Amino acid sequence: MPDATPPDAPWMTRVDLPRQAIRSILAELAEDDSWSAYKSVWTERLRARLSSLFRVTHVRLTSSGTIAVELALRGVGVREGDEVLLAAYDFPGNFRAVEAIGARPVLVDVCQDGWVLAPENLEAAYSPRLRAIVISHLHGQLAPIAEIRRWCDDHDVALVEDACQVPGAQIAGRPAGSWGDAAALSFGGSKLLTAGRGGAVLAARDDIAQRITVFAERGNDAFPMSSLQAAVVLPQLEQLEEMTNRREAGANIVRDHLASVPCVTIPATPEPAQSAYYKLGMLLASDLGDTARAQLLEEARQASLPLGAGFRGFAGRSTRRCRKVGELANARRAARATILLHHTVLSHEPSIVAQAAEKLKELLAKIKR
Ligand SMILES: *Cc1c(COP(=O)(O)O)cnc(C)c1O
Repeated sequence: MPDATPPDAPWMTRVDLPRQAIRSILAELAEDDSWSAYKSVWTERLRARLSSLFRVTHVRLTSSGTIAVELALRGVGVREGDEVLLAAYDFPGNFRAVEAIGARPVLVDVCQDGWVLAPENLEAAYSPRLRAIVISHLHGQLAPIAEIRRWCDDHDVALVEDACQVPGAQIAGRPAGSWGDAAALSFGGSKLLTAGRGGAVLAARDDIAQRITVFAERGNDAFPMSSLQAAVVLPQLEQLEEMTNRREAGANIVRDHLASVPCVTIPATPEPAQSAYYKLGMLLASDLGDTARAQLLEEARQASLPLGAGFRGFAGRSTRRCRKVGELANARRAARATILLHHTVLSHEPSIVAQAAEKLKELLAKIKR
């Protein structure tokens, strides 16, 4: 019998939100009615903060990260009939964003140990119809974005960066989210920066911002973020760096505890980079079947450990909907073998993170081959 972890396991509580600051901002909003304005001191402050944090000229607040990806693609000039390249393992909405424009997804495999697009696969994927690439940083692993940026420049292809999971991450001294011609951020409910809903699209050039404006403005903003939402993100930005460090320390504790467990690996990002952990991704050994993962997740649920499966990936999609480059073996494996530990665990104090890591280790040890 598994020893009973109380349903109120300490690592389930979110300790990374500045509750006091949020409370006083909400009180201020209630007093001055600024929550009711489309455009307010809050939306403008958030735009300015994001602009400086991501070193980008144009910031448009959006209703979600999902629509931010589509707006980014439209912004860089993707049109019906174009091809857009993306990893065969990615957030489902990114495939749909390409289709929503009437463009065709081109699927490229991810790296062998992880979830990010492998740049060595780009050359074989090129075609003259290729207009843009979507690059997502996923599960705590940052994409080799400098190399991909160079490839895009050499081939005159636009780069859209999906930084929804990694606000606060740095790659070679530059923020993740600042490498693309356009980039997407999410302030969704479970994300590192949250307004319950919301997002932003960042644009590096005037023409990109202009296309986004033309598409989104329909007498009013068709995909807005509200003043209320913008206001609660601001105090979270103040402590983003501190929280990024804390979550990284937490991720390292989990790595240490699981280092000797044979049936799981925790891929890392090569230096020089500082990652951000929306979820800490791990890969189960490839000889474990689907049932082993399902069983592990069920046991984790019973132990109040916030552990989930990864994305399903697109490798199995019909070739009527997309062009596939190669066998996409790594993406298929990632879809089967990924488990994700939610970030709430990681921002706790070290002893609590260690407890959660030990619990996970215990569950992994029980997996049947
Ligand atoms: C969450 C997420 C999105 C979408 O953000 P929403 O605000 O939930 O619409 C897009 N891409 C990635 C990689 C995400 O994790």
